[in-house]
Amino acid sequence: MKILVADDDSTTRRMVASMLTKWGYEVVTAPSGDAAWNVLQGEDSPRLAVLDWVMPGMDGVDICRKVRGEVPTDRYVYMILLTAKTSRQEIISGLEAGADDYMIKPFDPSELQVRVGIGRRIIALHEELVAAREALRVQATRDALTGTYNRGAAYQRLVEEVDRAVREKQPLSLLMMDIDHFKKINDTYGHLVGDHVLKETAARVQSVIRSYDIVGRFGGEEFLVVLPHADTDFAIAVAERIRAAVSNRPILSGSVAVSVTLSAGVATARGPSVPDALIQSADEALYHAKRTGRNRVCVATERCAA
Ligand code: GH3
Ligand code: MG
Ligand code: MG
Repeated sequence: MKILVADDDSTTRRMVASMLTKWGYEVVTAPSGDAAWNVLQGEDSPRLAVLDWVMPGMDGVDICRKVRGEVPTDRYVYMILLTAKTSRQEIISGLEAGADDYMIKPFDPSELQVRVGIGRRIIALHEELVAAREALRVQATRDALTGTYNRGAAYQRLVEEVDRAVREKQPLSLLMMDIDHFKKINDTYGHLVGDHVLKETAARVQSVIRSYDIVGRFGGEEFLVVLPHADTDFAIAVAERIRAAVSNRPILSGSVAVSVTLSAGVATARGPSVPDALIQSADEALYHAKRTGRNRVCVATERCAA
């Protein structure tokens, strides 16, 4: 674990650094407050800082204030102020500026070791919390089986992209896709194979679209794809690419090879559009594709690509 030691007095700086190194920490030193602030803004910067209170230029308290004001809270920096000040009011003002702890010079090395240990524990707890929050965020927006967006998140992204398309005066297309006779796949091979087919289908869809296209699982075996900056012809080409990627070779699951096809409906927004109306149009095109033989792409108007 990396620790920043900032002190304009080289003797104290070296002494603190050598103690921390002896206890197994990686130490970065800074001879001034400004240098310390630079270190804290860098890539992979230390999460724990031992800061001298009084330094020329930016002092330890200024750094505390800046860190609390400007460093994102998902990268919590634990700060210990070193001070010769003993007045209660001064110490309160240091803590108010955002310091986590303080030590009065001269201090006992074992006390520093213990206090740094506390900081380390707080940072570890904070990282666990951030990781748990991130995992929850992913869980809340992703479909557990396929890893694509879930219905709610896909809808939300569609709303955002429709807004953006209007702002940027760009077309936007939507594909609604549904695996053909999926029930039969479940009935023939069982639900586990069916699940694997869903996963592999989603992976194949993802492998042929652009990185900023959005895929969501809209229902059981129904996927929605949002294609920003895509007119109808472009969207048809993407849908055809997806259809081919899914149907060209069987999906292997254990010892079984499952032939899979899907049908797709395309709708395009040119200018202000209501997301629900777009979904409705793509849905109608999808059902047209189903009615006219499946394994095909249809457009919200009447055009059908075989
Ligand atoms: P069509 O070509 O008209 O779309 O026919 P279909 O059989 O694909 O459509 P239908 O809506 O009749 O059946 C969809 C099936 O998908 C029914 C449901 O049990 C199954 N299903 C929904 N979610 C899952 C899932 O997560 N895993 C598996 N294995 N099956 C699922
Ligand atoms: Mg189906
Ligand atoms: Mg369906």
